[in-house]
Amino acid sequence: MMSEWEPMRMNDRQQADVAKIAEALRNARGAVAFTGAGISTESGIPDFRSPGGVWSRYQPVMFQDFLADHDARVRYWRMKHEAYGAYATVRPNAGHDALARLEAAGRLVGVITQNIDGLHQAAGSRTVHELHGTDRHVACVACGKRFDAEPVHARVEAGEAVPECDGCGGWLKPATISFGQQLDPDVLSETIRLSREADVFLAIGSSLVVEPAASLPVHAKQAGAMLVIINRDTTPLDDIADVVIHAAISVVLPVIDDTK
Ligand code: ZN
Repeated sequence: MMSEWEPMRMNDRQQADVAKIAEALRNARGAVAFTGAGISTESGIPDFRSPGGVWSRYQPVMFQDFLADHDARVRYWRMKHEAYGAYATVRPNAGHDALARLEAAGRLVGVITQNIDGLHQAAGSRTVHELHGTDRHVACVACGKRFDAEPVHARVEAGEAVPECDGCGGWLKPATISFGQQLDPDVLSETIRLSREADVFLAIGSSLVVEPAASLPVHAKQAGAMLVIINRDTTPLDDIADVVIHAAISVVLPVIDDTK
């Protein structure tokens, strides 16, 4: 699977585009990176939607069913526990590392991500807005108390089907946004604000079809940002972007990062 990504040398036009992006970031005051599944698949995180992925073997559990039905809770935790196992071996890749360095150098104000794997923080990014929550924490659906995911998954591994909150006895659930669950309105409004104030907006590894992913680059572009799309495949927003690079993220981002 990894062989799909390597080795891709950039052509002359892409090299020129990369130089243009690096220069824009040197002059930027509010550059924002927005990332989707593409950056994580290059770390070996399986795309759960793909054939054979976890989501194709388990029926998705709606948030309302998680609250209402014991069997749905058991099924959900079984699926999430299996998916969590992948994190034991995955590491941030050169793309995550480059974004962390750009932020440390003051060239990015932060990362907005659709990913729930925590790899940006693992790479050293400090300001990460997680639109779909995170698998690295679990939260009580009754009182909202949050816990590190690791010890809770250890309890599931030891046989607890649906772990309960030590504060109130409510059900714990990975701190991700489930089907049928609203995005966190505070996270959403903050990401819209950052997008509107961005002078450079990098959309990285997202197919840009699911909301709000599809709107954030549009907000940025309409407010005057330079819109850059870096993705393996074409996206519906390629036509409005200032620069589009179809190549592997872990190849392109380290070259854009000239802070070294
Ligand atoms: Zn609780």
